[in-house]
Amino acid sequence: MSPERLVPHNPATGQPLDPVDCTTPDAVREVVARARTAQRAWAATPAGERAQKIRAVAQAIGAQADALARSICDEMGKPIREARAEARSIAARVESFITAADQALADDEGVENGIAMRVRWRPLGVVGVIAPWNYPVATPSNLLLSALLTGNAAVFKPSEFTPHTGALLHRLYSETLPEGLVGLVQGAGDVGAALVASDVDMIAFTGSIATGQAIMRTAAASMKRLVLELGGKDPMLVLPGADLQAAARHAADEALRNAGQVCVSVERIIVHADVADEFTRRVADLVRAVKPGDPRDEATSFGPMASARQRDLVLEQLADARRHGATFVVEGQAQGPGYYLTPTVVTDLKPEMTLVRDETFGPVVAIQVARDVDEAVALANDTRYGLGASVWGPPGPQLDAVADRIEAGMVGVNRGLSTAAGGPWVGWKMSGLGYTRSVAGMRHFLQPQSQARRAG
Ligand code: NAD
Repeated sequence: MSPERLVPHNPATGQPLDPVDCTTPDAVREVVARARTAQRAWAATPAGERAQKIRAVAQAIGAQADALARSICDEMGKPIREARAEARSIAARVESFITAADQALADDEGVENGIAMRVRWRPLGVVGVIAPWNYPVATPSNLLLSALLTGNAAVFKPSEFTPHTGALLHRLYSETLPEGLVGLVQGAGDVGAALVASDVDMIAFTGSIATGQAIMRTAAASMKRLVLELGGKDPMLVLPGADLQAAARHAADEALRNAGQVCVSVERIIVHADVADEFTRRVADLVRAVKPGDPRDEATSFGPMASARQRDLVLEQLADARRHGATFVVEGQAQGPGYYLTPTVVTDLKPEMTLVRDETFGPVVAIQVARDVDEAVALANDTRYGLGASVWGPPGPQLDAVADRIEAGMVGVNRGLSTAAGGPWVGWKMSGLGYTRSVAGMRHFLQPQSQARRAG
């Protein structure tokens, strides 16, 4: 019997790309077994040597940035310049991963009541890495680098929408690292579920909340370790005294980047009534200037959505908002060929709208108006999500206090969120379980072992 096949589509044209064979359940088990064998020698390799090999992987990814960018562009429609920047970002961040891993692997030591305690940090074994399509190089690499630098093997399942990019990325890891250490399985959710149910020790996942919940259920049977990086509904608070042009620029850029398909997109703008009209006018002017283009064209900054399914989800939310009385300042249009959706600016939103409640993941600037700061904070926190956020206003202790009240894992103050200087990439509430980056994030990929001895 011939294997099932994935047929990805070019979102700019709607045309099918070359098919890719799905991995059978038996083959999933074999890939995991090979990774387990390779992991033993990898775990015994000094951390410094492992880091050197990972640097070589990052270099290989950088050297293939153009090929990766073309593949990202063709499979999910990201404009080529942004796709190249994504591929190049790995080399730029690898040193911070290496530093965090080095610190995470160091023993913790202490003495109490005559007992000397040493905490050793041991690799877990094999980590299943399951990735989404929106950053098909950067997102799996964050998880793969974390797993590998801490002495684990990995088995990588790319999204069914970006299997060619996944295969190319996998080749760059596997050609540089020991045989079998990084395995590849291809397929849709059923193959992801087979990987979760397999003999892996941990699942590191980036994707939607619903899939994260499904993974938790499957992983419960064998009590697997989990890191789940999930969706967001990031608020951006704009308060009186903010630099309105800078805030409007940020809103337009970060609601529309990658056609709005970023986990930390600006999904909800909550603007104080005193500055709402001027802010809305400025954003609308910026958004009207955005022109969709061919993602392969170096001049394009706004391309198609990744799939017809994703575009239809956004259109459904916009229709629901219209039914509930929203005002469309700029009205997005579906355009073909391909899965284009031009940007929307919409106001007069109500809490019951799906556009306010659920992740949109599309090119929509959604504006809510708050009477005062307390209402703005309450609206920002009235969600099951808690990934990112930003607050905009006169810099100082008052604005810092507003940031402190936001229930999100990552908050930017007069800028977008960032994980510079060893900060964690982390969600709050239903936006995540466990986290990555930072020393503490690296330790999610390790098993602590307390060793007690008589002191002295
Ligand atoms: P998705 O959850 O549909 O799919 C993600 C991956 O999970 C795919 O590889 C898919 O095949 C696999 N999968 C599906 N069902 C599975 C199952 N039952 N068991 C195991 N694996 C399964 O998400 P998507 O549409 O690819 O990506 C978009 C989502 O990812 C958005 O919600 C976005 O916010 C989120 N995301 C989060 C971050 C973050 O850092 N928090 C980053 C990027 C994307």
